[in-house]
Amino acid sequence: MKLLGLIGGMSWENTIDYYRILNEMIKSKLGGWNSAKIILYSVNFEEILSLQNNEEWDIIADKVSQICITLEKANCSAIVICSNTMHKIADQVQEKIVIPIINVIDETAKAIKERNVETIGLLGTKFTMESGFYIEKLKDKYNLNPIIPKELNRKYIHNAIYDEFAKGIFLDETKIKFLDIIENLEKRGVQGIILGCTELPLLIKQEDVNIPLFNILKIHLKAAVDFCVED
Ligand code: GLU
Repeated sequence: MKLLGLIGGMSWENTIDYYRILNEMIKSKLGGWNSAKIILYSVNFEEILSLQNNEEWDIIADKVSQICITLEKANCSAIVICSNTMHKIADQVQEKIVIPIINVIDETAKAIKERNVETIGLLGTKFTMESGFYIEKLKDKYNLNPIIPKELNRKYIHNAIYDEFAKGIFLDETKIKFLDIIENLEKRGVQGIILGCTELPLLIKQEDVNIPLFNILKIHLKAAVDFCVED
Protein backbone atom coordinates (compact mmCIF):
# COMPACT_ATOMS: atom_id res chain seq x y z
CA MET A 1 0.00 0.00 0.00
CA LYS A 2 1.28 3.44 -0.95
CA LEU A 3 1.51 6.31 1.53
CA LEU A 4 -0.99 9.10 0.90
CA GLY A 5 -0.61 12.78 1.83
CA LEU A 6 -3.87 14.43 2.88
CA ILE A 7 -4.19 18.20 3.16
CA GLY A 8 -7.08 18.83 5.50
CA GLY A 9 -8.55 21.29 7.95
CA MET A 10 -10.64 23.07 5.29
CA SER A 11 -12.74 22.53 7.28
CA TRP A 12 -11.74 19.97 9.88
CA GLU A 13 -15.41 18.93 10.15
CA ASN A 14 -15.17 17.15 6.81
CA THR A 15 -11.55 16.07 7.18
CA ILE A 16 -12.83 13.71 9.87
CA ASP A 17 -15.08 12.16 7.23
CA TYR A 18 -12.20 11.94 4.75
CA TYR A 19 -10.22 9.97 7.33
CA ARG A 20 -13.16 7.73 8.29
CA ILE A 21 -14.36 6.98 4.75
CA LEU A 22 -10.82 6.35 3.50
CA ASN A 23 -10.30 3.75 6.22
CA GLU A 24 -13.71 2.18 5.60
CA MET A 25 -12.86 1.84 1.91
CA ILE A 26 -9.49 0.24 2.65
CA LYS A 27 -11.15 -2.12 5.13
CA SER A 28 -13.81 -3.20 2.66
CA LYS A 29 -11.25 -3.65 -0.10
CA LEU A 30 -8.59 -5.50 1.85
CA GLY A 31 -10.37 -6.85 4.94
CA GLY A 32 -8.59 -7.91 8.10
CA TRP A 33 -6.99 -5.08 10.05
CA ASN A 34 -5.92 -3.15 6.99
CA SER A 35 -6.13 0.62 7.34
CA ALA A 36 -4.96 3.59 5.29
CA LYS A 37 -1.34 4.72 5.35
CA ILE A 38 -1.53 8.48 5.47
CA ILE A 39 0.15 11.64 6.59
CA LEU A 40 -2.44 14.31 7.36
CA TYR A 41 -1.27 17.91 7.12
CA SER A 42 -4.10 19.89 8.66
CA VAL A 43 -3.99 23.67 8.17
CA ASN A 44 -5.42 26.52 10.22
CA PHE A 45 -8.53 27.29 8.19
CA GLU A 46 -8.74 30.88 9.51
CA GLU A 47 -5.47 31.72 7.73
CA ILE A 48 -6.57 30.09 4.46
CA LEU A 49 -10.03 31.61 4.56
CA SER A 50 -8.81 35.20 4.91
CA LEU A 51 -6.49 34.64 1.92
CA GLN A 52 -9.40 33.17 -0.09
CA ASN A 53 -11.62 36.12 0.78
CA ASN A 54 -8.91 38.54 -0.36
CA GLU A 55 -8.47 36.53 -3.57
CA GLU A 56 -4.77 35.99 -2.72
CA TRP A 57 -4.62 32.81 -4.79
CA ASP A 58 -0.89 33.06 -5.57
CA ILE A 59 -0.05 33.18 -1.86
CA ILE A 60 -2.40 30.23 -1.27
CA ALA A 61 -0.71 28.33 -4.11
CA ASP A 62 2.72 29.00 -2.52
CA LYS A 63 1.54 27.78 0.87
CA VAL A 64 -0.05 24.62 -0.55
CA SER A 65 3.02 23.97 -2.70
CA GLN A 66 5.21 24.10 0.42
CA ILE A 67 2.92 21.60 2.14
CA CYS A 68 2.99 19.32 -0.90
CA ILE A 69 6.80 19.49 -1.02
CA THR A 70 6.90 18.55 2.68
CA LEU A 71 4.60 15.57 2.03
CA GLU A 72 6.60 14.54 -1.01
CA LYS A 73 9.84 14.64 1.01
CA ALA A 74 8.10 12.48 3.63
CA ASN A 75 7.66 9.80 0.94
CA CYS A 76 3.99 10.25 0.12
CA SER A 77 3.09 8.81 -3.29
CA ALA A 78 0.14 11.11 -4.01
CA ILE A 79 -1.68 14.11 -2.56
CA VAL A 80 -5.36 14.50 -1.73
CA ILE A 81 -6.47 18.09 -1.13
CA CYS A 82 -9.58 17.79 1.04
CA SER A 83 -11.38 20.82 -0.41
CA ASN A 84 -12.97 21.53 -3.78
CA THR A 85 -12.34 25.25 -3.56
CA MET A 86 -8.61 24.70 -3.14
CA HIS A 87 -8.54 22.89 -6.48
CA LYS A 88 -8.56 26.36 -7.98
CA ILE A 89 -4.78 26.25 -7.51
CA ALA A 90 -4.25 22.48 -7.92
CA ASP A 91 -2.79 22.62 -11.45
CA GLN A 92 -0.42 25.43 -10.40
CA VAL A 93 0.75 23.40 -7.38
CA GLN A 94 1.12 20.22 -9.44
CA GLU A 95 3.92 21.92 -11.39
CA LYS A 96 5.99 22.17 -8.19
CA ILE A 97 5.95 18.46 -7.33
CA VAL A 98 6.52 15.13 -9.04
CA ILE A 99 3.92 13.03 -7.21
CA PRO A 100 0.35 13.39 -8.50
CA ILE A 101 -2.40 15.43 -6.91
CA ILE A 102 -5.54 13.31 -7.17
CA ASN A 103 -7.79 15.92 -8.71
CA VAL A 104 -11.37 15.98 -7.44
CA ILE A 105 -12.72 17.69 -10.58
CA ASP A 106 -11.27 15.08 -12.95
CA GLU A 107 -12.49 12.19 -10.81
CA THR A 108 -15.97 13.70 -10.46
CA ALA A 109 -16.23 14.30 -14.21
CA LYS A 110 -15.28 10.67 -14.90
CA ALA A 111 -17.95 9.45 -12.44
CA ILE A 112 -20.57 11.66 -14.13
CA LYS A 113 -19.62 10.31 -17.57
CA GLU A 114 -19.93 6.74 -16.29
CA ARG A 115 -23.56 7.46 -15.31
CA ASN A 116 -24.27 8.93 -18.79
CA VAL A 117 -25.24 12.24 -17.24
CA GLU A 118 -24.53 15.36 -19.29
CA THR A 119 -26.40 18.30 -17.77
CA ILE A 120 -25.16 18.56 -14.23
CA GLY A 121 -25.91 20.97 -11.38
CA LEU A 122 -22.95 22.23 -9.39
CA LEU A 123 -23.21 23.32 -5.75
CA GLY A 124 -20.23 24.66 -3.85
CA THR A 125 -18.59 27.82 -2.58
CA LYS A 126 -18.80 30.94 -4.73
CA PHE A 127 -15.21 30.25 -5.82
CA THR A 128 -16.18 26.78 -7.03
CA MET A 129 -19.43 27.84 -8.68
CA GLU A 130 -18.37 31.16 -10.17
CA SER A 131 -14.66 31.45 -10.78
CA GLY A 132 -14.41 29.14 -13.77
CA PHE A 133 -11.79 26.57 -12.77
CA TYR A 134 -14.43 23.90 -12.06
CA ILE A 135 -16.98 24.70 -14.76
CA GLU A 136 -14.45 25.20 -17.54
CA LYS A 137 -12.79 21.87 -16.83
CA LEU A 138 -16.18 20.09 -16.85
CA LYS A 139 -17.11 21.76 -20.13
CA ASP A 140 -13.84 21.86 -22.06
CA LYS A 141 -12.15 18.66 -20.94
CA TYR A 142 -15.21 16.44 -20.40
CA ASN A 143 -17.88 17.92 -22.65
CA LEU A 144 -20.39 18.22 -19.80
CA ASN A 145 -23.02 20.89 -19.43
CA PRO A 146 -22.70 22.30 -15.87
CA ILE A 147 -25.43 24.54 -14.50
CA ILE A 148 -25.12 26.64 -11.34
CA PRO A 149 -27.91 28.08 -9.17
CA LYS A 150 -29.11 31.68 -9.65
CA GLU A 151 -27.17 34.43 -7.90
CA LEU A 152 -29.24 34.75 -4.71
CA ASN A 153 -29.13 31.00 -4.18
CA ARG A 154 -25.37 30.96 -4.82
CA LYS A 155 -24.93 33.54 -2.07
CA TYR A 156 -27.12 31.49 0.26
CA ILE A 157 -25.11 28.31 -0.39
CA HIS A 158 -21.75 30.07 0.03
CA ASN A 159 -22.76 31.67 3.33
CA ALA A 160 -24.26 28.46 4.68
CA ILE A 161 -21.01 26.57 3.92
CA TYR A 162 -18.85 28.97 5.93
CA ASP A 163 -21.24 30.26 8.61
CA GLU A 164 -22.88 26.92 9.37
CA PHE A 165 -21.33 23.72 7.95
CA ALA A 166 -17.67 24.62 8.44
CA LYS A 167 -18.55 25.35 12.07
CA GLY A 168 -20.34 22.03 12.49
CA ILE A 169 -23.87 23.52 12.37
CA PHE A 170 -26.42 21.54 10.32
CA LEU A 171 -29.97 22.90 10.52
CA ASP A 172 -33.21 21.39 9.17
CA GLU A 173 -34.28 24.73 7.69
CA THR A 174 -31.02 25.02 5.75
CA LYS A 175 -31.46 21.52 4.40
CA ILE A 176 -34.99 22.37 3.23
CA LYS A 177 -33.65 25.43 1.40
CA PHE A 178 -30.91 23.34 -0.26
CA LEU A 179 -33.48 20.78 -1.41
CA ASP A 180 -35.52 23.63 -2.87
CA ILE A 181 -32.44 24.89 -4.75
CA ILE A 182 -31.86 21.37 -6.10
CA GLU A 183 -35.50 21.17 -7.21
CA ASN A 184 -35.08 24.47 -9.08
CA LEU A 185 -32.03 23.07 -10.85
CA GLU A 186 -34.01 19.97 -11.77
CA LYS A 187 -36.63 22.22 -13.38
CA ARG A 188 -33.80 23.77 -15.41
CA GLY A 189 -32.96 20.33 -16.78
CA VAL A 190 -30.13 18.99 -14.64
CA GLN A 191 -29.91 15.20 -14.52
CA GLY A 192 -27.66 15.05 -11.47
CA ILE A 193 -26.03 17.21 -8.79
CA ILE A 194 -22.37 17.58 -7.86
CA LEU A 195 -22.08 18.13 -4.13
CA GLY A 196 -19.00 20.17 -4.99
CA CYS A 197 -17.98 21.09 -1.49
CA THR A 198 -16.62 18.69 1.07
CA GLU A 199 -19.14 19.80 3.72
CA LEU A 200 -22.23 19.21 1.56
CA PRO A 201 -22.37 15.39 1.85
CA LEU A 202 -22.73 15.97 5.60
CA LEU A 203 -26.05 17.77 4.91
CA ILE A 204 -27.61 16.17 1.85
CA LYS A 205 -27.95 12.44 1.25
CA GLN A 206 -28.97 10.50 -1.85
CA GLU A 207 -32.29 9.49 -0.25
CA ASP A 208 -33.24 13.19 0.00
CA VAL A 209 -33.44 13.71 -3.78
CA ASN A 210 -34.73 11.99 -6.93
CA ILE A 211 -31.73 12.53 -9.21
CA PRO A 212 -28.20 11.11 -8.80
CA LEU A 213 -26.00 12.95 -6.33
CA PHE A 214 -22.28 12.95 -6.96
CA ASN A 215 -20.71 12.75 -3.52
CA ILE A 216 -17.29 14.17 -4.30
CA LEU A 217 -15.84 12.96 -1.05
CA LYS A 218 -16.50 9.31 -1.90
CA ILE A 219 -15.50 9.78 -5.54
CA HIS A 220 -12.25 11.50 -4.54
CA LEU A 221 -11.37 8.82 -2.01
CA LYS A 222 -12.24 5.92 -4.29
CA ALA A 223 -9.68 7.29 -6.75
CA ALA A 224 -7.18 7.64 -3.91
CA VAL A 225 -7.73 4.06 -2.77
CA ASP A 226 -7.42 2.72 -6.33
CA PHE A 227 -4.12 4.58 -6.58
CA CYS A 228 -2.77 3.40 -3.23
CA VAL A 229 -3.78 -0.23 -3.26
CA GLU A 230 -2.50 -2.35 -6.03
CA ASP A 231 -4.93 -5.05 -7.18
N1 GLU B 1 -14.59 22.55 2.05
C1 GLU B 1 -15.02 23.46 1.08
C2 GLU B 1 -14.80 22.92 -0.33
O1 GLU B 1 -14.77 21.74 -0.52
C3 GLU B 1 -14.74 24.87 1.23
C4 GLU B 1 -13.69 25.26 2.19
C5 GLU B 1 -12.61 26.03 1.53
O2 GLU B 1 -12.82 27.24 1.35
O3 GLU B 1 -11.57 25.46 1.23
O4 GLU B 1 -14.74 23.67 -1.27
